[in-house]
Amino acid sequence: MRFALYWDHRSPAGLQRPVQRRIEGILGIEGDLVETNGLLLTGFDPLRREYSASSLLTCLEAVRRREGLHGPILLVVPDEIVAPGGEAVFGLARPQRGTAVVSTVRLQNGWYGREPSDDALVDRIAKEGAHEIGHLVGLEHCPEPECVMFAPRSLDELDRKRKMLCRACEARLGAG
Ligand SMILES: [Zn+2]
Ligand SMILES: [Zn+2]
Repeated sequence: MRFALYWDHRSPAGLQRPVQRRIEGILGIEGDLVETNGLLLTGFDPLRREYSASSLLTCLEAVRRREGLHGPILLVVPDEIVAPGGEAVFGLARPQRGTAVVSTVRLQNGWYGREPSDDALVDRIAKEGAHEIGHLVGLEHCPEPECVMFAPRSLDELDRKRKMLCRACEARLGAG
């Protein structure tokens, strides 16, 4: 199995390869990078300037059919994304469809008034991306705060996670 990493052309430039490599390292699954500027994204609310994460996942289902993809698909966008309840989220996965989306906007230091850092941003996109792909390969949330499958409620909780699965999640992944 391979995952497909769709990198929206407006997402931070130059980070896609390091993100791909780190996700591969965390999950032990190889990926294929697709740089995309032709993806038709629907679900944008121009007043709130945010995407419905669910709509983006539905777009990915069309991509899956068109491209004949079978593995997990992760889309990285630079826009605010909101979950079905209206809450802004780092990312969202639809395990039954094998699709996931991550937004970089709240992963950037600048969002919090901190000094920008590409290294921190790559780490966060990779951890968040690996987390969502983890859901697509059968993993659920983990109580271990340093595990990638821990569900962070803040940037600090995301930063506290290590770029790896805990033993229990790793075993579950291997068994699945
Ligand atoms: Zn999750
Ligand atoms: Zn775990």
